[in-house]
Amino acid sequence: MFVDKVKIFVKAGNGGNGAVAFHREKYVAAGGPDGGDGGQGGSIVVKVDDNMSTLMDFRYKRKYQAAAGQNGEGGRRAGKRGENLIIKVPRGTVIKDAGTGAVIQDMSELEEFVLCKGGRGGWGNKHFATPTRQLPRFAKAGLPGEEHEVILELKLLADVGLVGFPNVGKSTLLSVSSNAHPKIANYHFTTLFPNLGVIWVDDGVSFVMADIPGIIEGAAEGAGLGHDFLRHIDRCRLIVHVVDASGSEGRDPVEDFEKINRELAEYSPELAARPMIVAANKLDLLPPESDNLERLRAHVEAAGLELYEISAATTQGTRQLMRTIAGKLQELPPVIIYQAEYVKPLAEAGEAEDLSIEHFGDTWVISGQWLAQLINDINFADYESRNYFDRQLRRSGLFTKLEEMGIRDGDTVSIYDFEFDYER
Ligand code: GDP
Ligand code: MG
Repeated sequence: MFVDKVKIFVKAGNGGNGAVAFHREKYVAAGGPDGGDGGQGGSIVVKVDDNMSTLMDFRYKRKYQAAAGQNGEGGRRAGKRGENLIIKVPRGTVIKDAGTGAVIQDMSELEEFVLCKGGRGGWGNKHFATPTRQLPRFAKAGLPGEEHEVILELKLLADVGLVGFPNVGKSTLLSVSSNAHPKIANYHFTTLFPNLGVIWVDDGVSFVMADIPGIIEGAAEGAGLGHDFLRHIDRCRLIVHVVDASGSEGRDPVEDFEKINRELAEYSPELAARPMIVAANKLDLLPPESDNLERLRAHVEAAGLELYEISAATTQGTRQLMRTIAGKLQELPPVIIYQAEYVKPLAEAGEAEDLSIEHFGDTWVISGQWLAQLINDINFADYESRNYFDRQLRRSGLFTKLEEMGIRDGDTVSIYDFEFDYER
C-alpha cells in the first residue's frame, strides 16, 4: 500500500509552571523568593528524511505530542525543557492546514521546519520581587504548546511526468531510459505506486522522470486509481504523454490521447496547460496497413504539440527522446515549490468570568485558558499586536470586573510573563 496523503494532529508541549519558593537557610530569617521557572515545552519539528519515499509511517499513528516542560523548583532551579518531537517526512511533502487546505510549508528545499512551538515556561516567583513586593506569593503557569491538525501530502519532485493509458509502455520507457526498475507487466494497473528515475544524458546533464499509475476515464472523479496519483506530477515541468500508436489493445490512439487530456484538465486545468510532448509508442507493433501513426501525428500537431516516434521495448528512438526532453527542460521554469499561504488566525478573548483573578497586595494575577492562548499570539515588541491584546481584554470585560473587585490606578496587572500598570 502506497500512502501519500494523511491527516495528523500535532501538539507541542506545554510550558512547565513556575515555582513559589523562598530561600531558607539556618539562622537566616525571611529569605527572598527563589522559585525557579518552568521549562519550555518541546516543539513539533518536521524534518526531511531522504530515505523515506512514502507517508506509510503515518498510516496508523495520527497523533503526535511533544513533551511538556517540567515545573520549576525552589533554589532557583528551572524545570527541564521538554524534548522536541521530530516528525520525519519524505522530501516533497507539503504540509497543509486541514481546515482550509492552505499550504503551511513545502518540505522540498528546507530540511527542518518548526510546525508547532512549545509553550513558554511560567516564571517562578523570583521574578516578581520588587521593592514594594518583597515576598511574592505567586508564580506563573506555563503557556500551552501550539496545536494543529494538518494534512501531509507527498508530491514527488520530478522534472518530467509520464501520463497515458494503462499498458501503453510508460514504465517500460522509464526503465529503458533510467536507473529505475518499475514493475512492467502486460495488464492494466501494474504500477501501484509512482516510480522515479534519474535519466542521464550526454555531458552530465540529468533529469528526474516520474511514472505514475495509469489514469483512465473517470479517474478525475475518483473512479480509478489514477486520481490519487496525479498529485505526483503536479510539480512537473514537462509532461510526456505516451500513446500506444499501434492500437495493440484495440483502442484508437487519437481517442486515447483526447481522453487522457480530458482527465488531466478535469483534475487540474493548470496541469493540463503544462508543456507537453507526445511519445507515439509500440511502433514495432504497428501493422503496415495502419494509418494510426499518421492520424495521431496530424491530430497532435494540429494541437500545436510535437510527436516523437518510439518503441520502448526495442529502445528505438528512446535515447533521442531523452535528449530532446533534456533540451526542452533547459528552457522551462524550475520544478514548482509551493509558497506558504497559511496565516494563523489570532486567538480571541473569551469571557472574563472564565478567568482566575488573584489579588496579592497591589498586584492582580490573572490566568485562564483563553488568556494563555491569547498571550501566546501576542508579540509585545509590536505596537499593533499590543493594541490587539488590549482590545481583546476590554472586550472580555476583564477591566470592568477588576474595577468591581477594587483595582486602583497604579496597581500591577500580571498576566503570565507580562505585567503592566493599571490605568483607568
Ligand atoms: P504502463 O502500464 O504504461 O506502465 O505499461 P508497461 O510499461 O508496463 O507496458 C505494458 C506492456 O506493454 C508490457 O508487456 C510491455 O512489455 C509492453 N510494451 C511496452 N512498450 C512496448 C513497445 O514499444 N513495443 C512492444 N511490443 N511492447 C511494449
Ligand atoms: Mg506502469
